[in-house]
Amino acid sequence: MARTAGVLVVQHIAAGLVDKDQIAGPLRMFPEKSDSHDALLAMPADAIAAKIAEVVSASAGSQPLAAQQVKGFRLQQALESLLSTGAGHVAVRIYNDADATAAGIAATRGVLHKLNRVWTLGNGVGFGRYPWAEGTWEGGHSVVTLDPKEQFCGCGGRGHLEGFLGYRAMRMRFLDLEPEEVFANAKAGEQRCAEFVSRCHRALAAATATSIHMDGPGPFYLTGPNAKWIDVGKLDRLVHEMVKMSPLQGSRIEMIPPNDELGIIGAAVNARHATAVA
Ligand SMILES: [Zn+2]
Repeated sequence: MARTAGVLVVQHIAAGLVDKDQIAGPLRMFPEKSDSHDALLAMPADAIAAKIAEVVSASAGSQPLAAQQVKGFRLQQALESLLSTGAGHVAVRIYNDADATAAGIAATRGVLHKLNRVWTLGNGVGFGRYPWAEGTWEGGHSVVTLDPKEQFCGCGGRGHLEGFLGYRAMRMRFLDLEPEEVFANAKAGEQRCAEFVSRCHRALAAATATSIHMDGPGPFYLTGPNAKWIDVGKLDRLVHEMVKMSPLQGSRIEMIPPNDELGIIGAAVNARHATAVA
């Protein structure tokens, strides 16, 4: 029987076979050691494509693949041709990592019927949703302030959420401190850092409130390497200050520890749905 492989490509490659919304078999990783985070940055795109194909083939073993889902790069055609040797055509679908994570959370919690939204906090700020829908969905670039001095977002736009919470943006804002030190100093009561951390929470609450005003209430999940810096209770209070209309009440915010499996499962869930419809 043909199976679906899910692949997550972020700072590393992780792949696994997915069956009935669960990982079915060992996860394959590249690099195998989680501390070699720069390995992909140094690789040309065609070498990354070949490495993804290798990791996927290893996860599939001798079983044929029906669909596979990759996120992070525009690699669909390269991967289809690399994977479709011998065993026939393998369909590849590519989604952003936050969309894959949203699908993985929805599938593993049995809430595929609800609108699930995800913020991923890392080098940038990702926004994902399940059900997957055609669209731009650049929620990380939501405008959260009219202050023209706020121009740290990687895209160059002013006043964006990522200009506060993106790791790269924080390094540009605090040239004398690493982001880890900023959050540690804030906890210790240092005023400049505490004010910034407070504004980070207001910025994320504002973008969340905008999403609720545009798309309705529902669960929001926070994940990614830097989600640990967010106080979920504080964020929840701020969102409730910003969303007052009674039909829009009932959203909740939950922290999800970084987890490759959710992205892999979600990638496969989205790909299977897409290839079943096609
Ligand atoms: Zn931006």
